[in-house]
Amino acid sequence: MDIEWLISLLIITKPSKLSLSLAKFRSLSFPCEHLFDVGFNVFVIILLVYLNNVDIDLSLRQPGYLHNLLPDSAPDHPETVEQVLDDVKTKILPGLTHWQSPTFFAYYPSNSSVAGFLGEMLSAGLGIVGFSWVTSPAATELEMIVLDWLAKLLNLPEQFLSKGNGGGVIQGSASEAILVAMIGARDKVLRRVGKNALGKLVVYSSDQTHSALRKACQIAGIHPENCKVLKADSSTNYALRPELLQEAVSKDLEAGSIPFFLCGNVGTTSSTAVDPLAALGKIAKSNEIWFHVDAAYAGSACICPEYRQYIDGVETADSFNMNAHKWFLTNFDCSLLWVKDQYALTEALSTNPEYLKNKASQANLVVDYKDWQIPLGRRFRSLKLWMVLRLYGAETLKNYIRNHIKLAKDLEQLVSQDPNFEVVTPRIFSLVCFRIVPVDNDEKKCNDRNRNLLDAVNSSGKLFLSHTALSGKIVLRCAIGAPLTEEKHVKEAWKVIQEEASYLLRK
Ligand SMILES: *Cc1c(COP(=O)(O)O)cnc(C)c1O
Repeated sequence: MDIEWLISLLIITKPSKLSLSLAKFRSLSFPCEHLFDVGFNVFVIILLVYLNNVDIDLSLRQPGYLHNLLPDSAPDHPETVEQVLDDVKTKILPGLTHWQSPTFFAYYPSNSSVAGFLGEMLSAGLGIVGFSWVTSPAATELEMIVLDWLAKLLNLPEQFLSKGNGGGVIQGSASEAILVAMIGARDKVLRRVGKNALGKLVVYSSDQTHSALRKACQIAGIHPENCKVLKADSSTNYALRPELLQEAVSKDLEAGSIPFFLCGNVGTTSSTAVDPLAALGKIAKSNEIWFHVDAAYAGSACICPEYRQYIDGVETADSFNMNAHKWFLTNFDCSLLWVKDQYALTEALSTNPEYLKNKASQANLVVDYKDWQIPLGRRFRSLKLWMVLRLYGAETLKNYIRNHIKLAKDLEQLVSQDPNFEVVTPRIFSLVCFRIVPVDNDEKKCNDRNRNLLDAVNSSGKLFLSHTALSGKIVLRCAIGAPLTEEKHVKEAWKVIQEEASYLLRK
């Protein structure tokens, strides 16, 4: 998209052109005039310029730094937009970690984009709360449509589409998606075995699974000793072995426990490990276990036909989640959850107080998303995903993903050519896991050295990496996926890493 054009368009759309409704808005007691005159265009342009020029310039502030710069209490009288923007520039921006920077390689990306934030702005400006269909029919219906679109792009089985018993919903985070799936599964099994059996319910996952699963167990009342964490190691590139699951399930059944939930991974947070979904799903099915698949980061890649294989077996899953707010140009928050049995969610999460009753809901003619999530209120998040899909189109999005994967492949190559380094586990998507190799098999010293390398690289202010541990090894993670990242950024980053490493190795 042509940014200059977009900026000019936004400048043309002066508040005066919105005269009628604006006059009404201005007559409200809320003093917002100055916001319309100065704020609107300026904010949009600042963000557009920011998103197109952001550099890493890591925030290295001390804890409490902002406290010393801002007053102790809110102002009694309105200030000007200029005053606020001046503070944003001098006090807020210097305290940011620039996630959209082309040399931000830490954690997983959290993409923003012009399409995404325009959608977000529309949503914020419209200010609707679409918890029931009747509270804004377009919000519910657009969400259903957009999630069907994406399910089709991912080639998810038909049962996840909204036309039957299934469907998709936007959650705030993968953590909420997993919790909601687990609560649906929990109540479904308790209806079968009786509600006193809560203490017997068992959850399974590999030890590579995101901590969101542990949190979901804590909230859903699953006893800590009933969260079975199965070991995954380098022999399977950190994928869960189906035999281990089978063994654990059989043992628990013998002991009178009730296996009820399995979380499989496509793209773990540590190292992008992919569990064998079909084999795991088969075990889940034959034991009446709800099978959830967490593809928070890697799900985005599966819209490309050549990467779709990584969710092969998803047809055996009961639920599936992917974060559009990671690697899909849709700004936080926008976490997508699909289920085959929407009634599992609504049976567990629906409420029907008198003050929310309406004809459409009573007649069961509509979806009320309040019954598919934890909170009641919900934002119009489908708008931004819809804008991303429409303003970029599927082909652009696929090529966007492919480009990052190619950059990661190139980096993997560079790492493996340097005798000081090793790629710790094979790269699958756009994350490269690597470390300085141990000298004289001294793993402890090697871990310290890699920790020091991480600190040195991040202190350089030129790029930002994060780390993990795999089988006790401290590993550096370079996750490529910011919208502005190009080949030169990755090459320069690698040079910085090599330089810092050779300095450390000389010590
Ligand atoms: C990022 C991530 C999560 C957590 O995502 P939130 O949306 O921040 O809750 C869960 N699982 C995996 C595999 C992830 O990569």
